[in-house]
Order: sequence, then structure tokens, then C-alpha cells
Amino acid sequence: MRKEAISIVVPCYNEEENIKLFYQELSKTMSKMKELTFEVIYVNDGSKDRSLSEMRELAKKDKRVRYIAFSRNFGKEAAMYAGLKASTGDYVTIMDVDLQDPPYLIEEMYRSIQEEGYDCVAARSVSRNGYSFLRKFCTKCFYAIISKLSKTEMVAGARDFRLMKRRMVDAVLEMQEYNRYSKGLFSFVGFDTKWVEFENTERVAGTSKFNFFKLLVYAIEGIVGFSTVPLLLSAILGIFFCFVSFIAILVIIAKTLIWGDPVSGWPSMICVMFFLSGIQLFCIGIIGEYLSKTYLETKKRPIYIVKETEKDLKK
Ligand code: UDP
Ligand code: MG
Repeated sequence: MRKEAISIVVPCYNEEENIKLFYQELSKTMSKMKELTFEVIYVNDGSKDRSLSEMRELAKKDKRVRYIAFSRNFGKEAAMYAGLKASTGDYVTIMDVDLQDPPYLIEEMYRSIQEEGYDCVAARSVSRNGYSFLRKFCTKCFYAIISKLSKTEMVAGARDFRLMKRRMVDAVLEMQEYNRYSKGLFSFVGFDTKWVEFENTERVAGTSKFNFFKLLVYAIEGIVGFSTVPLLLSAILGIFFCFVSFIAILVIIAKTLIWGDPVSGWPSMICVMFFLSGIQLFCIGIIGEYLSKTYLETKKRPIYIVKETEKDLKK
């Protein structure tokens, strides 16, 4: 009987120290799960260090190791998409190469799918050890905001680490949008998902590839991709200020008729003008953000461009 296969997709960006460490750690799990075959797909997201040669070396030594190298850095979302697309297994999992997603969980995830009939088992870190206080705080705020704005469920602490059945992977791949926010896409496609919790640890080597600005952009991408409520909010703000100005007109007319002196109040008028211009620019910014995403989608540019894969090794 054909053995079932698990594909492991590993996005990497400047991770030369971690590629081998990850492989060694994962090998322990792979050798425990003898009833399965494995395929490890490293995606080199335009690394400028020795990541690619580390991948080539592993692929030469172990037939289970494959790799896809991008022509430049396209971002983790693109790397995940490329990995999912290249995967051939009956089950697919996405893991960070820094070992912040513990490989031993794969076994537990696989059992849950087999025995409890889930389509997907996803990891959720209960603590956010290894991240700064500011990052933990901002992440918490982000989840509080997006859960209010979006109908798609966003689970706090959810990682991209999850084991999915082929059906679910195909459903995710069917969404070929350019602005990808996978945490939302996984939730959007539905399927029965079980959450397993684990304690987050620090990355084994190297530094985080997401600085504050990158995370902010990622958060905005998530909100714009999965909610149109900000557009509605800007319309509501507009109506609200029309109402306030109407009241203000009535008050000023009454004041002038009773006390005269129609010219005073210049400083307060300037304040109001500044405030309202700010609100207007803010609302135009929101509309601009949606427009820019639509603009990028209509161009239909490729999500990633491949420079080399393990198939090029044999030549
Ligand atoms: N990553 C990537 N492309 C990028 C940024 C990150 O492929 O442009 C990979 C990175 O190599 C790692 C994973 O995405 O395997 C998660 O990145 P990181 O550990 O820096 O994120 P954090 O844990 O700080 O959220
Ligand atoms: Mg990490």
C-alpha cells in the first residue's frame, strides 16, 4: 500500500545558521513517523547570505529535501504560497526555519487528523516568549481590532504552523490574490480546524526578519484584505461631522443674534479647520489604501519568480 506523504514548507530569508539545525531537529520527528514519507521544501526568499548553498547541500544529501529559490525577496506570504503550490504530499505543513514552530508537534497534529477526523490542526502559541513587550502589546491590539472589523475569524496567537489535508491546501491555492494574508485565508476556506497550544520559544539563531514597520504594514494588509469596515467608518465619520457642523451653525447664529460680535473665535476656527482636514486626509488615506490594493490586484503580477529549484542540481 502506498504510504501517505507529508510535505513540509519552510520559508527562509537570510537563515544560513538555521537551515541545517532545522533539518536535524525535523529528522528526529521524521524518523519516528515511519508510516509516512516526507518531503521538505525550503523556500529561499531571496536571501543574501549562504542560505541557498545550505539548501543545495541538504538536497544533494537527502532526496526528501527540495528547494525553491526566488529571484529576490518577495516576502513570507509569497514564500508560503510557492511552497504550498510545489507540495505534493497528502498533508502539508508550513513551518518557520528558526525552530519557533516545534517539529515534535507534527506527530500530534497528524494523530489528531487521523483519529479525530479534523481537516486541519493549527498551532497557537499561548505565551509570546521571545518577543519584546512592545511587540506583544501591539499584536494584542491588532487582534482586538481585527476581530471587531472582520467577519473572518482571526485567532489570537495563531501561527502559520498548521498541518492541512490536501483538500484544504487546494482551496487555499485557489485564491490567487496578490495581497495575501494567509492567516485570514486559512480561516476563510473553513474546514474543521483543531487548535493545539504550545509555549513559544526564542528563535535558535539569527534575528527576526520582521521589524516594527514591516509588522505594521502586515497588520494593515490583514485589515484591508479581510474587512471593508474602515470604508464604512470613514463614511460614518463624515455624516457625524456634518451633523456637528449643523449644530455649530445654529449655535453661532443664536450667539450672534443675542450678543452680537460675529468676528471673535478666530483661533478656535483654525483648530476646527485643522482637525477636520486631518479627519478628511485620514479618510482619503483609507480609501487610497483600498484603491492601491485593487490597483495591484488588477495588474496580475506574479506573486513570486523562481530562479532555481532542486531540479537544476542534476544538470
Ligand atoms: N521569512 C521569509 N521572508 C521574509 C521574512 C521572513 O521567508 O521576507 C521567513 C523567515 O526566514 C522565517 C519565517 O519567515 O522562517 C518567520 O520569520 P521570523 O522568525 O523573522 O518572524 P517572527 O518569528 O519574528 O515573527
Ligand atoms: Mg521567528
